[in-house]
Amino acid sequence: MSVFTKIINGEIPCYKVAENEDFIAFLDINPNAPGHTLCVPKKEVNKIFDLDSETYFDLMDFSREVALALREEVTCLRIGMSVIGLEVPHVHVHLIPLRDMEDMRFSNKVSLTDEEMQDIATRVKERFDH
Ligand code: AMP
Repeated sequence: MSVFTKIINGEIPCYKVAENEDFIAFLDINPNAPGHTLCVPKKEVNKIFDLDSETYFDLMDFSREVALALREEVTCLRIGMSVIGLEVPHVHVHLIPLRDMEDMRFSNKVSLTDEEMQDIATRVKERFDH
């Protein structure tokens, strides 16, 4: 069982920003930039291009909705998107609020307090839900 399935099952906590029947989005715990978010299908599949096409396109739709909320709540030039999956073998789309190109480098990390993470998550979730 992946660490993201444990989050989906409520076994470990997350800073949730969005959820529907099939997908969840939460803040990355080791963010490249403030507001770095992961969009995850609840169905545990390892590689993105192994998703059935309906789930794949629904994931893109969900990620777009999350990105629209994120860019309203986090100061940035635009939202970058990336799919890697080398660390967690459960499909996820990285949404990264970009201030410059360095924010797309996964060796480039920022440190936020629990309060700052909670504040971003609450604001984005509020925006997503309305
Ligand atoms: P990758 O599989 O290479 O796309 O990277 C996995 C990402 O998931 C990394 O950016 C991690 O910081 C992030 N991550 C790992 N565990 C958690 C967790 N429990 N909550 C939130 N993000 C996580």
